Amino acid sequence: MAKPVIWTIDDDPDVLRAVERDLRRQYGGRYKVISADSGASALEGLRQLKLRNEPVALFLVDQRMPGMSGVEFLEKAIELYPDAKRSLLTAYADTDAAIRAINGAHIDHYLMKPWDPPEERLYGVVDDLLDDWQSGYHPVFEGARVIGHRWAPRSNEIRDFLGRNFVPHQWLNVETDETARELLKTADGGASSLPLVVLPDGSFLNNPAIAELARKLGLKTKAEFPFYDLVVVGAGPAGLAAAVYGAADGLRTLLIEREAPGGQAGRSSRIENYLGFPLGLSGGDLARRAIAQARRFGVEILAPQEVKTVRVEGPSRVLTLQDGAEVGCRALLIATGIAFRNLDVPGLEKLNGAGVYYYAPMSEAVAYRDGDIYIVGGANSAGQAAMYFSKFARRVTMLVRGQSLSQSMSQYLENQIAATKNIALKFNSKVVAVEGRDRCENITILDSATRLQETVPASALLIYAGAIPRTDWLAGVVERDEQGYLISGQHLMREGRRPAGWTADRDPFYLETSVPGIFVAGDVRHRSAKGVTSGVGEGAMAVKLVHEYLGLL
Ligand SMILES: Cc1cc2nc3c(=O)[nH]c(=O)nc-3n(C[C@H](O)[C@H](O)[C@H](O)COP(=O)(O)OP(=O)(O)OC[C@H]3O[C@@H](n4cnc5c(N)ncnc54)[C@H](O)[C@@H]3O)c2cc1C
Repeated sequence: MAKPVIWTIDDDPDVLRAVERDLRRQYGGRYKVISADSGASALEGLRQLKLRNEPVALFLVDQRMPGMSGVEFLEKAIELYPDAKRSLLTAYADTDAAIRAINGAHIDHYLMKPWDPPEERLYGVVDDLLDDWQSGYHPVFEGARVIGHRWAPRSNEIRDFLGRNFVPHQWLNVETDETARELLKTADGGASSLPLVVLPDGSFLNNPAIAELARKLGLKTKAEFPFYDLVVVGAGPAGLAAAVYGAADGLRTLLIEREAPGGQAGRSSRIENYLGFPLGLSGGDLARRAIAQARRFGVEILAPQEVKTVRVEGPSRVLTLQDGAEVGCRALLIATGIAFRNLDVPGLEKLNGAGVYYYAPMSEAVAYRDGDIYIVGGANSAGQAAMYFSKFARRVTMLVRGQSLSQSMSQYLENQIAATKNIALKFNSKVVAVEGRDRCENITILDSATRLQETVPASALLIYAGAIPRTDWLAGVVERDEQGYLISGQHLMREGRRPAGWTADRDPFYLETSVPGIFVAGDVRHRSAKGVTSGVGEGAMAVKLVHEYLGLL
């Protein structure tokens, strides 16, 4: 945590050196003592300090300085640090001016030069001022700060990215938060385009692209080596498990993730059916633990980074990444899961991120306290969201296409929903329109049994309308089914014949695709069981098959 600052300013270098020395000796352990030789240079430094969110406890400023007097400086400094204590350093001849300043410019104290011995004439006053300051001080937040409009989709995208990548950050709504407006002024004289991200080192980014933000935050997007034993694409449960087991078994392993480690599971508020966690655990927790475990075993993780193409060069599998870099490996595991299916409803796209969310981040729930929330979908993910949001919302209504939940949802979740008073169910229903000026305000629901439509006020619309694999980048490389799932193992065999172009002198392993050495695990696999447990199981099993494959080479 950054030490609070004591800032002293004097144009006389001898006095400045002496006061700095005395302050450091007494307070250097708990405070950072900074000095400047003019008000103007101190103000510039102060702006940087403000951007880095470092606290100032005390200003100790010479009154008589050319260019800007002590009082003039303090009047400006108050705007940036209204809570800091302010004291003037005055010569005997300036005492009157100092007293006038105390009355007129909210100065807390004045000290006479010289202050020898400091034990008698300096530290007592400074101790009092610092005690006073400490009593009203709340330690400051030290992560990134995001300033923007509550309903702007880009603000939402950036917050979601930071949250899912476990980057500590604070959200400041420019419409309601005074600190947000102040920071905006300090950063760029108010000229910044929103959202503005202020980083812990005081630098800032205007409306940054995710890749730029990731670079600036120091997230790792470039591989350290040109070649690995095993590359895993996708850091959902299947990919994380494979990476952990691969590295634990001594394979040099690289894990590449397009958005944030955790995958779909990272959006789950409570996974209740994962072995060993009788009370359930959130997807975020599961991801955090798995990442720590992967790092401990030496897995190299690139995120955010997307794999764009793959090609086979003899025994090597070569990947091209979004930034054009290439990386090779002996064995490749595809664990890219499935991606949300978009709903084609008039008005919806415009409000995506502004009250309308696909697989909403849990952090949004608090914002809808006492709201009326509608959820599209009847599967487990929709049920979990209903349970989670019902803790905050006045009412949650689930819009289900079918006639019951039983066809699509686990029994334990259906029971929980039935027992929750503020969750309502509407069967045979679908959303046909979404309206709102700059955020979701109304939705129109069609009852497909009666063909009646109704328009109702909605604070938010959360969509859990199923998912599809996005595997176009693998077209022509490995065999896919008509929906895009990757085919593996015995499903590749047609009337006892191996897939076209198969080069190995054996049948494909259970999780091996139509190219030897390219494996698949988790939701993206044709006829996989889907879910966290089976993803983790397949990830682990894939590593065992990778070993067999490498032994065969
Ligand atoms: C809200 C919600 C709640 C859920 N609750 C439960 C539950 O309680 N119990 C349960 O068993 N299951 C649950 N599920 C389902 C479960 O999360 C998934 O079955 C599981 O995450 C699948 O794991 P996976 O590793 O196969 O794929 P995913 O979790 O989908 O991960 C795939 C990853 O690959 C990345 N990726 C894709 N393409 C690329 C590329 N080209 N380059 C780099 N990276 C790429 C994606 O960004 C993603 O992070 C839930 C799902 C959701 C959305």
